[in-house]
Amino acid sequence: MQKYDYENLYFFNDNQTGIKGVICIHDTTLGPATGGCRMWTYATEWDAIEDALRLGKGMTYKYAAAGVDLGGGKAVIIADPKKDKSEALFRSFGRFLNRLNGLYITGQDVGTTLRDMETIRSETPYVVTLPRELGGAGPISPSTALGVFQSIKACVKEKYGTDQLKDIRVAVQGVGSVGYYLVKYLTEAGANVTIADIDTKRTKELTEEFGVRVESTETIHSLDVEVFSPCALGKIINDQTISELKCKVVAGSANNQLADEKHGDFLSELGILYAPDYIANAGGTIYDTDRLKPGGFNEVRAINHVERIYETMTDIIKISKEETIPTYKAADLYAERRIESVGRAKHLQKDIINNMQ
Ligand code: NAD
Repeated sequence: MQKYDYENLYFFNDNQTGIKGVICIHDTTLGPATGGCRMWTYATEWDAIEDALRLGKGMTYKYAAAGVDLGGGKAVIIADPKKDKSEALFRSFGRFLNRLNGLYITGQDVGTTLRDMETIRSETPYVVTLPRELGGAGPISPSTALGVFQSIKACVKEKYGTDQLKDIRVAVQGVGSVGYYLVKYLTEAGANVTIADIDTKRTKELTEEFGVRVESTETIHSLDVEVFSPCALGKIINDQTISELKCKVVAGSANNQLADEKHGDFLSELGILYAPDYIANAGGTIYDTDRLKPGGFNEVRAINHVERIYETMTDIIKISKEETIPTYKAADLYAERRIESVGRAKHLQKDIINNMQ
């Protein structure tokens, strides 16, 4: 905790409902710690703690870089999502959140669903990722796709001098919730799109709707295109795939696209511009957390904020060039600079209030 400057680590347990787990608060400089609630069968409690710490820190960077006034945190419930879920368990979790008085706001993550968030919401207001009828933003995948689309435009602008995507060749790996909307935005912009998905029913639907070409899932990353957009799996940029890439831009929604940080360095050495995953895929989070702003959810404001991913990506490319560092490192620096500058401003405000008292 000291090494990475974590603020708090909470443990919760309730024998009545069978819940136990961890809540990590990494950094609240920008606002309450926010991040999803993961439910997983961790081999040991230590694994759960490590996961909460790692994921919570990631959220600090994601919000900071996205210009969202929230801090980073994460909850993990140590349980099997297939067997152990119950209304009582999630209500119990909601009550634990109330004890933290808004220091941590939870949301959906691996192993939990929007329905689980609704149950938690019946005990506590400290939840995001809710349906519209409960005051939430509703489905977020279209906004995630919009953010990816903006980051593709910013990267194409850097590489080809224009952000018009007409006739730009894009290979999209995975056309699920996010990939579908991305293909929609890309084809509307006149891009030349090829897709691949292990779900052949899905690829057929998209071919019929958008007239896109289908490629094998084995080779989609190695096509001769301007942009490769990973929207399915993590660790897709790895020892094997990196030498097969022919694109000049990698920008997609998948989490953890780099198998290892060294692959981010290699991309940079190969002259391939990488849109860091947590920058490119922040659209859904930006859209979803808009409801925490004064006045509640505002669709126009939320979409405007998502579209600013274009500027963020442009700024990150600029830092990467100025500091001669790969974009994945520039993204971290960008986030750290925002936390530092807002932290400074907060310090100033506090002093003024103290002087008035
Ligand atoms: P999804 O499950 O709806 O879609 C993923 C698609 O990838 C599916 O159609 C699946 O069949 C396909 N797929 C799986 N393995 C494949 C392979 N080997 N080759 C090609 N296709 C394959 O998921 P999603 O919500 O669209 O999210 C896509 C990625 O973006 C995930 O990594 C997710 O973590 C990340 N992400 C999503 C959001 C969001 O708003 N949904 C936000 C941030 C990050």
